[in-house]
Amino acid sequence: MSLFIEQGPIRPPSEATSLLLRLTRNCPWNKCAFCRSYKGDTFSRRGLEEIKNDIDTVVEMCRLLHKISRQSGFGGLINRQLLTQIYKSGDYQLFHIAIWLINGGKTVFLQDANSLVMKNSDVVEILKYLKEQLPSVERITTYARSSTLARKNVEALIELRLAGLSRIHVGMESGSDEVLTFIEKGTTARQHIEAGRRVKESGISLSEYIILGLGSKRWAQEHALETARVLNIINPDFIRIRTLTIAKGTTLEQKALSGDFEEESEEEIIRGERLLIEHLDGIQSNLVSDHSMNLLEEVKGKLPHDKLTMLGTIDRFLSLPESEKQNFILGKRWGLYRVMNDMLDASQHARVSAAVSMLKKENRLKEAISQLKNKVI
Ligand code: SF4
Repeated sequence: MSLFIEQGPIRPPSEATSLLLRLTRNCPWNKCAFCRSYKGDTFSRRGLEEIKNDIDTVVEMCRLLHKISRQSGFGGLINRQLLTQIYKSGDYQLFHIAIWLINGGKTVFLQDANSLVMKNSDVVEILKYLKEQLPSVERITTYARSSTLARKNVEALIELRLAGLSRIHVGMESGSDEVLTFIEKGTTARQHIEAGRRVKESGISLSEYIILGLGSKRWAQEHALETARVLNIINPDFIRIRTLTIAKGTTLEQKALSGDFEEESEEEIIRGERLLIEHLDGIQSNLVSDHSMNLLEEVKGKLPHDKLTMLGTIDRFLSLPESEKQNFILGKRWGLYRVMNDMLDASQHARVSAAVSMLKKENRLKEAISQLKNKVI
């Protein structure tokens, strides 16, 4: 019988090769209007023994992989050939562990949406057990809600850091209270600030996720300016940029259909991004664009050093003639371009231009872009 550990559905892109260890199931809030990650799923805490059993199982899986490697003539090494062999066997959990090992077995992500809602002493116990059983682990990260973090004091967060927690990923989404209320985030800008400052003070690395376009046409300016204000106070280690896509079955989709949420155009969203970056001041955060839904993936860098370069990249897009903007947007959503320089490929450019002309003739350009965008989520 194959070995099994329980795992949740999502993790940040930066944790793609991390070991996923589930502490809680789903999201205790589960109300954000744009989110469908855990829709219909009930939140629950896993027991300490259950989680420790999963850690023990990972240890066993590591042993098993080394054994298979020796039996296959790879001398106990976790190499590409072994990965292929495990993948072909159809044991995808063992494959996940093999991927983790081939990447050094150094990083762990604690699932699901708000693991730190568990008792602090329980998380500390799990962290210590994890590090004892898997000594190769160097970085342990988790998602957490600001409303949960704001209820912890700095001492509690320091305890987590000393036990091994290295980074917390927070879905800030916006720094505007009006936007946060509208999307039912269940968190205020003040809580984001309180939580962020405490995490920073504890010495744990902090990632804040921001969603471009979440302010809609109604709060576009306020979304950018208030988010910049809150980030300037927190000075997180990472600002991670996301772009809104309205997923089917969400409350936000209903709000959009009823006209209560007026989606911004791609260009308006980029103008909002410019306003946000322009107002990021006095912080040393890394601005990261690690999601393909971001129209300008090349807008990234270290603040304040790269601020002008980032603004310059945005201005390069904004100053394109209308036909070139349309070409880039369609090519990007189609998956033919990744960054603006990809438009320099004459044959790809001509292919996209032909598609733009045809869609414009049929009056379907906007609809096609939106369909292509939704295909990705
Ligand atoms: S807190 Fe996170 S996981 Fe929970 S509903 Fe909101 S966005 Fe989704």
